[in-house]
Amino acid sequence: MQRLLVLFDLDNTLVDRRGTLAAWAAEFTARHRLADEEQAYVLSMVAERAYPSTFDAIRIRYRLPMPTAELWRAYCTDIAALVSCPADVLDGLDQLRAVGFRLGVATNGAVDIQRAKLQATGIAERVDGAFVSEEANAGKPQTRHFALAAARCGTALGDGGWMVGDNPVNDIGGGRSAGLGTIWIGNDRSWPPNDPGPDHTVPHARAAIDLLLLHSAGHTRTTT
Ligand SMILES: [Mg+2]
Repeated sequence: MQRLLVLFDLDNTLVDRRGTLAAWAAEFTARHRLADEEQAYVLSMVAERAYPSTFDAIRIRYRLPMPTAELWRAYCTDIAALVSCPADVLDGLDQLRAVGFRLGVATNGAVDIQRAKLQATGIAERVDGAFVSEEANAGKPQTRHFALAAARCGTALGDGGWMVGDNPVNDIGGGRSAGLGTIWIGNDRSWPPNDPGPDHTVPHARAAIDLLLLHSAGHTRTTT
């Protein structure tokens, strides 16, 4: 039987990246004895994406004595220790696999940090594969990103599936262009005007999982 693919975005979809970063920025400024008001600046530096080059800039600004590589390693370790995936979402991933879905993670970012998060949260052991954009310089919304993620899960885009994510352009626009059904994690935001909408909008990852479980149950009923 063909197992239908579901790709999940990682940050602010399966894990709360914003909350994790705020906690990390507080720790970082305290550890390096930076002024409290620098917390917002440090946070702004890593807000969009963090790479080793980000820590080069932070090291220079605060004249930190340690090499950039050490700061980057510490960041990966610290974030992995702080990040978590809600228990009901982890359970949901198990449930989706149990009813026959093939699961993957499709995420932009640096390999070190994204892999560290996948391992630390327990997501890695619950999915068939994961693809991080830096591994092949192929970021969302490029179709190549989704194709490589599908390949990691042992399937191909031509066999269809779903993309679940919070970013209208990268996850939803990209997923649609890749031929996938789309589920948008809305987080109380409204859909950008003039953009073709997602197939479904839900408030959080658990709701997306429930929708997929319902969908699969309906599918079973109509085909048996
Ligand atoms: Mg995201």
